[in-house]
Amino acid sequence: MSHITIIKAAAVDLPKEPFNGRHMIDGVWLASSDGATFERKSPSHGMVVSVSAKGGALEVDAAVAAARRAFDAGGWKHTSGKERAQVLHRVAGLIAGNIERIALLETLESGKPIYQARAEIEGAVDLWRYAAALARTLHGDSHNALGSDMLGMILKEPVGVVSIITPWNFPFLIVSQKLPFALAAGCTAVVKPSELTPSTTVILGEFLQEAGFPEGVVNIVLGYGDPVGAAMSTHADVDMVTFTGSTAVGKHIVAATSGTLKKVSLELGGKNPQVIFPDADLDQAADAIVFGVYFNAGECCNSGSRIIVHEDVVEALTEKVVALSKKVPFGDPLDPRTQVGAIISDAHNRKIDGYVNAAKDAGADILLGGKALDIDGLPGKFYMPTIVSNLSADMAIAREEVFGPVLSVLRFKDFDEAVTLANATSYGLSAGVWSENVHTCLAFAREVQAGTVWTNTWMDGYSEMPFGGVKESGLGRELGRYGLEEFLEVKSVLMRVGKTRVPWVAK
Ligand code: NAD
Repeated sequence: MSHITIIKAAAVDLPKEPFNGRHMIDGVWLASSDGATFERKSPSHGMVVSVSAKGGALEVDAAVAAARRAFDAGGWKHTSGKERAQVLHRVAGLIAGNIERIALLETLESGKPIYQARAEIEGAVDLWRYAAALARTLHGDSHNALGSDMLGMILKEPVGVVSIITPWNFPFLIVSQKLPFALAAGCTAVVKPSELTPSTTVILGEFLQEAGFPEGVVNIVLGYGDPVGAAMSTHADVDMVTFTGSTAVGKHIVAATSGTLKKVSLELGGKNPQVIFPDADLDQAADAIVFGVYFNAGECCNSGSRIIVHEDVVEALTEKVVALSKKVPFGDPLDPRTQVGAIISDAHNRKIDGYVNAAKDAGADILLGGKALDIDGLPGKFYMPTIVSNLSADMAIAREEVFGPVLSVLRFKDFDEAVTLANATSYGLSAGVWSENVHTCLAFAREVQAGTVWTNTWMDGYSEMPFGGVKESGLGRELGRYGLEEFLEVKSVLMRVGKTRVPWVAK
């Protein structure tokens, strides 16, 4: 194992007591009605990081009722954009002042490297500030050319009560991609973080109170997908569900919401290709490929988990990717040098290994890694940087979301084959193209089925740029102006000017 870069257990003080998470319902912090709790053990360090109230249907009912009252009574939805922006900015300031506290809990619960957790929380600050800017610029539209007797107005109104259900891989960032936008639109919300990473959302709840959000505008219910997320998806008083997570659960949510025909927005999985043409800058591409596949240990919807490489450069590029992979520091997420931390759970580590072993059994070559990794001094589960080659496009590892630090290498002969391979999956989240020829990049960007396309780069993101998927990667968009639009209904108001209406019934 010496041929990869390993960071052993860091000498840091771990929290003495687990974090105590409670529900935030109608402005009050509550234990569950039956006193039930659940524990989260650190996937890297093994200690109990948090003990949280374990919610059920009763807590969801109370939280939805509070959000409904807060919406219908009109306090928040009738605030001006300026007032909304002021509170959103206060939240941003509180997050910015507590980065270390949030990052430590985020790292201990998720296994992600501390340097990355800090960067994600800084990214969240920007999202809250950006949503504040959107609140100030929220406006509708008008039609002044419908004839002199008619004025048409298009009002943008908040959807209402929104259920926000988030995953474990970017807990603080993803709630910040949804909640401030919903609030900027004038909605009220019930939020459920993943049962694996509940605590930083609870901290966010503290900041929301301190920033001055009225009671009931945001409520947090902790617990498992079933019953908490399930009840948030079927509840008759919820107007919209915004969900980030697996495609399988996304499909459940669409079915669950159909009874009450709620608006649904879904950010789901991906099997994202990077296509490398023979004229590409191979050094730049190799670095972006390594970043794309190992970032967040591959537990990333945007993971660049397969590369599709022109046959003339596939050997040279793969050699570079293998060499760089050996330099990426895997290990203790609390060491600031670590770039790849622990896998979220034992079960998930086994699932990753299952994909790699199935590919091996089907004749694929493992060029690097291919097995779980033990880190000296840490009880947690890690997986080696892994590169799998000599595969066919129909193998599970080449089509399905592995969600681990595992790269699949496929090859192509011409442009059409590259596009066919890139699109040969049920997902359509993101894609990348590497070529020094802008025409090749643009032609690929137009043909590939994806919500985001990167040309000669990977996974750059901005609060201004919408993000979301096509096909089974999701419905709707987050971020940018489109991210606000998701939480708005459109109302047409037609105003007759003067007594100009022609009677329908003849006099
Ligand atoms: P998951 O689907 O298992 O869980 C996501 C959330 O849904 C959790 O809060 C969970 O408790 C809840 N949930 C589970 N069952 C539910 C049910 N029946 N009804 C309502 N809620 C339920 O996903 P995960 O394992 O936490 O996250 C990994 C997945 O998320 C991957 O597939 C990844 O690609 C996807 N993801 C997508 C994006 C994106 O923006 N497209 C971003 C991050 C993660």
